[in-house]
Amino acid sequence: MTEGPSYGFDTLQIHAGARPDPATGARQTPIYQTTAYVFRDAEHAAALFNLQEVGYIYSRLTNPTVAVLQERVATLEGGVGAVCCSSGHAAQIMALFPLMAPGRNIVVSTRLYGGSITQFSQTIKRFGWSAKFVDFDDLDAIAAAIDDDTRAVFCESIANPGGYITDLDAVAKVADKAGLPLIVDNTSATPYLCRPIDHGATLVVHSMTKYLTGNGTVTGGVVVDSGKFDWSASDKFPSLSAPEPAYHGLKFHETFGPLAFTFHGIAIGLRDLGMTLNPQAAHYTLMGIETLSLRMQRHVENANRIASWLENHPAVDQVTYAGLPSSPYNDRVARICPNGAGGLFTVALKSGYEGCVKLVDSLEIFSHVANLGDTRSLVIHSASTTHRQLTEEQQIAAGAAPNVVRISIGIEDADDLIADLDQALAKASA
Ligand SMILES: *Cc1c(COP(=O)(O)O)cnc(C)c1O
Repeated sequence: MTEGPSYGFDTLQIHAGARPDPATGARQTPIYQTTAYVFRDAEHAAALFNLQEVGYIYSRLTNPTVAVLQERVATLEGGVGAVCCSSGHAAQIMALFPLMAPGRNIVVSTRLYGGSITQFSQTIKRFGWSAKFVDFDDLDAIAAAIDDDTRAVFCESIANPGGYITDLDAVAKVADKAGLPLIVDNTSATPYLCRPIDHGATLVVHSMTKYLTGNGTVTGGVVVDSGKFDWSASDKFPSLSAPEPAYHGLKFHETFGPLAFTFHGIAIGLRDLGMTLNPQAAHYTLMGIETLSLRMQRHVENANRIASWLENHPAVDQVTYAGLPSSPYNDRVARICPNGAGGLFTVALKSGYEGCVKLVDSLEIFSHVANLGDTRSLVIHSASTTHRQLTEEQQIAAGAAPNVVRISIGIEDADDLIADLDQALAKASA
């Protein structure tokens, strides 16, 4: 399809980045299951390696199936380019890699996916990086946490597991004032519900494992660049603004302008870190994205109904869904997530930790799994699983207290889901 920012989301989710295969006319994007690509001649090969010509060299760097997915997600997010990665966690490292160096830090929200809390609080220390965790509803605290060594601000749009909505416009202003990029993990919202770049985000990361693919078949991630950040405005981002020693002194920002981050991600990030998405996985994700808006509409519709029902159930202490009028985040829905507050929330039970364990063991349609964003309804007791590595204080700050279960509402019949929850809640409170 030719460029058309005037096309609507439903059209772009099917067509962006794709065109009939030039070799065969195949209408669906083929799975280019190949490692390498034949160079036309030695001159062509040299031009590709010099980044003077864009083309395919080796599938650790680029692959035609993956390239369609990159363009599709970049288009849906309103970015200029995207780099697909082998998982959401890989995408987070790939987003930080060009910005960071030993001794540098990031300022991140306390309300994150449990795995991200562990990645940022523990694992990145091995690279000499660190993270400062702050309540992102407290804008002064974000500003106060930023120091001379800070290189990025990181949060989730709809935060896992509680479904809290971050005031992206306000957080972007704080990052902007400090001359720092804002990175937003848009996994739980997807570009159908929220477009972080429209609210000031510099980079958007996704775990495509979740709603983008939508049916629990692959792991994948992506980093989307808005193309709007001026990497040369300060000397804080030498990998992008100064001669890059890892690419014979190429100056990425000067050479590629708004595509600097994307080119760096492929030419250095994928080349040297190798967190590449494979073409088969890209195919599954492309299939999923074709129906993204339809699925998200149903996720939201079901979540609204089920969250309201749960809120009035005698066994339930609290429901965190931002789509509920009782949520302190309800007034952010229309501004940040105009198409709805997503399908993810937590439920606190009066019967505590034991009740939660009984609930997950009694549900029949809901699967007890460490995943979210599937067509199937899923449930997890975070405190005994995904957030188990954290202290109770961290669990509570992350919205995963011991008496809380996380629910990812699928696209099944809402009546069936309510009946299943009803019978399981009866057992959990018995
Ligand atoms: C699952 C998830 C991740 C990690 O993604 P993987 O694909 O599992 O590596 C990161 N952020 C959020 C919000 C997630 O839900």
